[in-house]
Formats: sequence, C-alpha cells, structure tokens
Amino acid sequence: MLRVAVRPSSSRLLSRYARLQGARGLATAQEPYDTVIIGAGPGGYVAAIKAAQLGLRTACIEKGETLGGTCLNIGCIPSKAMLNNSQAYVSAKNDMKNRGVDIADVGLNLPQMLKAKQQAVTGLTKGVESLFKKNKVEWIKGTGSFVSPNRLAVKLADGSETEIEAKNIIIATGSEVTPFPGIEIDEKQIVSSTGALSLEKVPEKMVVIGGGIIGLELGSVWARLGSEVTVVEFLPSIGAGMDDEVAKSFLRLMQKQGLKFKLSTKVISAEKSDGKVLIKVDAAKGGKEETLEADVLLVAIGRRPVTKGLNLEKIGVETDNKGRIVIDDQFNTSVQGVKCIGDVTFGPMLAHKAEEEGIAAIEFIKNGYGHVNYQAIPSVVYTHPEVAWVGKNEQELKKAGVEYKIGKFPFAANSRAKTNLDTEGFVKFIVEKETDRVLGVHIIGPNAGEMIASATLAIEYSASAEDIARTCHAHPTLSEAFKEAALASYDKPINF
Ligand SMILES: Cc1cc2nc3c(=O)[nH]c(=O)nc-3n(C[C@H](O)[C@H](O)[C@H](O)COP(=O)(O)OP(=O)(O)OC[C@H]3O[C@@H](n4cnc5c(N)ncnc54)[C@H](O)[C@@H]3O)c2cc1C
Repeated sequence: MLRVAVRPSSSRLLSRYARLQGARGLATAQEPYDTVIIGAGPGGYVAAIKAAQLGLRTACIEKGETLGGTCLNIGCIPSKAMLNNSQAYVSAKNDMKNRGVDIADVGLNLPQMLKAKQQAVTGLTKGVESLFKKNKVEWIKGTGSFVSPNRLAVKLADGSETEIEAKNIIIATGSEVTPFPGIEIDEKQIVSSTGALSLEKVPEKMVVIGGGIIGLELGSVWARLGSEVTVVEFLPSIGAGMDDEVAKSFLRLMQKQGLKFKLSTKVISAEKSDGKVLIKVDAAKGGKEETLEADVLLVAIGRRPVTKGLNLEKIGVETDNKGRIVIDDQFNTSVQGVKCIGDVTFGPMLAHKAEEEGIAAIEFIKNGYGHVNYQAIPSVVYTHPEVAWVGKNEQELKKAGVEYKIGKFPFAANSRAKTNLDTEGFVKFIVEKETDRVLGVHIIGPNAGEMIASATLAIEYSASAEDIARTCHAHPTLSEAFKEAALASYDKPINF
C-alpha cells in the first residue's frame, strides 16, 4: 500500500502541539503553569516533586548541567563521600591492626577516591532527573529572571530565550561561597569548598580560613589523607552554633587527630609566591603579626544568598541587609504570588531545612496551610567522631534566663561503643527544670548524626526526658547512651 506523508498545516501543528503539551501536563501560551520553581537544589527539587504529586502543573528552572544544586553537586554529597572514604583510609592505616585485621601496604589512590565521590554525585543527580520524569515535573534548562510577578524570562542552555507564565513562583536559588575581600579564589591553590573537594594532589600544608562546619569537615578530609592542616578562626571557639561544652571537646579531639588551630586570629591577606600561598594573620584583638605558608589555602568563611540576575528590583521583592530575600511565615515574599525557600532566605543554610520549606511552601499553595518547626532542625558535623545537635544549647538558655537541668552520658560507658573500640564523646540532654521537657540534645560521638533523629522527634513531640528514658532501646546499641543521658537528667544513670 502506498503511504502518503501529509504535512500538517500550521494550525493543525499548533493544535497537535497543544494536545501533546496537555497530555504531558505542560503549559501552553494560554495556560500558565500552576507552579514554577527557580533552582533545583534540595529546596527547589523537593518542592517541584511535591507540587506535581499534589496535582499542580509544575516546572523547575535550573541553570546547572545537573539537578540537585549545591547539596548534590558540590556540597553535602561529595563532602560526605570524601569524609567517609578518607576515614576508611585512616582506619585501614592506623586502626585495623588493633582489631585483629592485618592489612599490608595500605596506600592512598586519590584519583579513585575522587572517582568514587563523582560516582555518588552522578548517581544521585541522575536520580533526581528520573524523579522529575516520574512525577512529570518539567526541567527547563536555563537561567530564570523575573519579567513580572507571574512571568519569567529564561535564557535557555541552548542559547535561545523563552518566557513562561505561572500562577505561583518559588525562588529557590540557594547560596554561593562568600568571598574573602582581597583573596582571589582560583580553585587550584586558593580554593573554596568546591575546589577542596577535587584537589588532585594531597597538599603538604593546608591552611583553612574558618572553623565552621565546612572548614572542619574538609580540613579533616585532607588531614586524614596526609596534609598538615592549620585552621585559622577569628572567634575564640570552633563550630559556630554548637554547645560550648561540646565545642571544647570537639576542639580537643580535632587537635588529637593532628589539626592545628589558631583561634581569635584574623587573616589579613593571602598571596601566591613561588608555588606557595603566604597568609598573613594577626591576633584578632591586635597582636603579633605572623605569616603562615601553605600549598593550598581553603577559604571557608560562609555562604551568601544568590539573587543576582533574578531582576528582583524590577518586581519589588525585598531583601535584607545580608542580601537574603525577606519572607513571612508562609514563605511569601513582598510580592504576591512569589514565595521563597532555602538558603536564599532566613535560617540555617542546611539541605534538610530547605527541603522542609519546599514541602510547606507547596502545601500553602495547594491547601492553604503548611508548617516547619524551626526549633527542631538538627545540625550535624560529619567528622569522626561526629557532632550533632538539635534545640537549644546551654549558652542560649542562660542568656534567655531559662532554668534547666543537664543529663550526660559518656560513650566510654556504653557497651556498644566499647565493643567497637570507639568511645570518644558523650550525649548531653538539656531539659526544662520544672517540666522535664527536652529543650536541646547535643551529641559528640560515633553515629551522632543518626542518633540526633531521635532527639529531633522528641523535641517535635514535646517529649520529656522521662518519656525517652522509659522507652526500651535495643542492647547493645550506641543509642543506649542516648537513653541513659535522658535518665541522667532527672535521675541517676544505671551504667555510669
Ligand atoms: C561543602 C558543603 C557541604 C555541605 N554539607 C551539608 C550537609 O552535610 N548537610 C546539609 O544539610 N547541608 C550541607 N551543605 C549546605 C547545603 O548544600 C545547602 O544548605 C543546600 O544545598 C541549600 O539548598 P537550596 O535548595 O536552598 O539551594 P542550592 O542547593 O544552592 O540550589 C540552588 C540552585 O539554584 C540554581 N540557580 C540559581 N540561580 C538560578 C537562576 N537564576 N536560574 C536557574 N537556576 C538558578 C543553582 O544552579 C542551584 O542549582 C553543604 C554545603 C557545602 C558547600
């Protein structure tokens, strides 16, 4: 049979296009999207999936080559891969023989370690791509900016431009490395966290500016792999946000692992000279100037919100003096129909905080209500041992004049920690004096990052320490230290 190809007329083409768009759940020129999210980090991609699950026609604009934002590409995931595998190396080198495992010729294969990191990143970013497909979220590959409160211009990755309309727009553009004035990052010798995740050679000497979570995690990685690491911190303590007692313990443990610290010390300048970086530092309150020499300098003084190029001024979205987008308790910006979540607005710059906000913002759009409990957002430092906390610390409660009791239990008295030959650290409960309600839990020790989930649940449900101490915990587990610390806050622990 003779088949004749018929070229459809332009009107037929258009209606077919519209039908196809409709079938795939995409918007047409006449039909705006229900929700468009700018940025596919953990805030944006989670919001997009939730929106699609709730039946909203959704697109997510992402300018990166992969989805997942800072967290999956250059943050949480690659840093945890390097932390996990560098710890395995140290453990094989120094610790296995104590456990009766003789390993001959332990060596570092850095290219393979970097490859393993990349494998984790690729697996997870591709995973988000399939989740988008599965949930019918359209990924618009390009850079978005506002034309009006419900219209966005997108510079597409292929060089062309388009405009789209949406009933609701969520800004989830995240954060970027805060530059140190006068120090230029080349991501080879003077690196940000991004370059520090991909060094091709272990530097003999590394200086880290900033004793916060990112600086300590990445400093730990390279110290484990053989660098002599010096952390320079302006404040008198490390681990901003930690309970003071835990921070002191943490400092001691990091020093024991070979990291050097210069606290209350200000960096004045850094310049490259003869293949080295010379870092001029000064005692923060005025004092002796000193020059440190490093093969690699890591600048880790924090992150700042990304709003450049969004054209916020044009539509009147308000930002504060730190450049963060101002929102109300329903994630609304100062412009109707435009919401904002994640690192680009207030609160801790954490992936799980961004995710919670993404879900709640969508629920506000779809159902008119949503909720994030900012008192129950855990923080974790993935060093060894780990440090994790949730709720209030002692210094905050003292400042607020709240009366509290403390319960502590050391891992040295926990049977599983002893069995594992991993006994550094303790669990610390802070409970309200009158009611025994859990106000904060601070853990330094093995698997603290997993254990903090129980504490977060306790705070979420307003549990008392007694509720936890009377809950059966499996034996022998590290979490028995958690139960015993709860018990210690209103009675006596059994095993210590
Ligand atoms: C080294 C490191 C380690 C970290 N470790 C942890 C950890 O262990 N746990 C944790 O909770 N947090 C960690 N964080 C922080 C975490 O990565 C962030 O809090 C989280 O990624 C914030 O999510 P977000 O969705 O707000 O923004 P981001 O993840 O920053 O994503 C924003 C996205 O928006 C895109 N974008 C920006 N502007 C535009 C535009 N105009 N058009 C289109 N796309 C745009 C960007 O390309 C990016 O993909 C770490 C960060 C770093 C740097």
